[in-house]
Amino acid sequence: MSNIGDLQSLSSSITAVTSPFRNYLNDVHKKYRSLNDGAVADYIPELALAKPEWFGICVVTAEGQVFEVGDCDQLFTIQSISKAFVFGLALEDHGREYVNSKVSVEPTGEAFNSIVLDEATNRPYNPMVNAGAIATADLIKGQNGTERLKRLLEMFKRYTGRDHDINVPVFLSEKATGHRNRAMAYLMLNFGMVSEKLDETLDLYFQQCSILVNAKDLAMIAATLANGGINPVTKERAVDERYVQDIISVMLTCGMYDASGEWAYRVGMPAKSGVGGGILAVVPGKLGIGTFSPPLDQKGNSVRGIKVCEELSRDFGLHLFSVAKPERNLQEWIAGDSINDW
Ligand code: GLN
Repeated sequence: MSNIGDLQSLSSSITAVTSPFRNYLNDVHKKYRSLNDGAVADYIPELALAKPEWFGICVVTAEGQVFEVGDCDQLFTIQSISKAFVFGLALEDHGREYVNSKVSVEPTGEAFNSIVLDEATNRPYNPMVNAGAIATADLIKGQNGTERLKRLLEMFKRYTGRDHDINVPVFLSEKATGHRNRAMAYLMLNFGMVSEKLDETLDLYFQQCSILVNAKDLAMIAATLANGGINPVTKERAVDERYVQDIISVMLTCGMYDASGEWAYRVGMPAKSGVGGGILAVVPGKLGIGTFSPPLDQKGNSVRGIKVCEELSRDFGLHLFSVAKPERNLQEWIAGDSINDW
């Protein structure tokens, strides 16, 4: 025992067994807390209110063990992370064939808000760039905007196990300033790639970006995918098992904007980031990671979030294509942990 903190954690763990993995996560958090690179998104004033020092890391295993450190309850807007799951719902609503006729699955290598469609088919490149996400939102079934939004919120509830709200000021300013998104939406309408109810769909897109989540939610969503679409704590199915593979493969190739290739190479986990500062990463069959830290790099990905995922991937051999024996064995590091603070 080297200090008061250690003594305190000893006394609070008398009835519960903690694993070395909790200390490991604390160390990673401590290490990157002082990394002050990047800038908080400020394209709308509400996002600029985020504190650069907010920093949370949460890991949930496919068995439902929850490990968290830092600001894991702080709410923020899900932004682009929503795109992966709206894609899942569109697949459930229409099937693979039809969805693919409207949205391709090819990485663009360009920024998430680029106004570019595939020349041969007029399809947006993939569901993770804004154009593709708007075309995907267009596919969400429902009588009207309210019902379609309700279906999205119910879906997120299945993934996280709790109710979600919209950040209304964020929604309204996304809507008020979203001319570029509107422009690409109307370009797609011109080509007949989206339906006439486009204004309702744009509202839905701005609303899906404004859904409030925290780092724990992100980790739980990721763990649900890792667990084949079933939330490992509530045991509720969030998405049809057939489409889990679709969601995570597009996350791997397109989830980190135009840094997806570098991410796949370095981290090797299907992941999705959002300009609110969240990153969600999936290790299929094993675990989900959720990180939250608002300062972003040039490409729009959370600087500290990238570092944390890189470190976890390296230390525990979590890269999808890792064949070498990892430095640390995750099963051993989490073994015996009896705390479930979800
Ligand atoms: N609301 C943002 C937009 O449409 C979403 C961007 C993001 O997280 N990359 O521009």
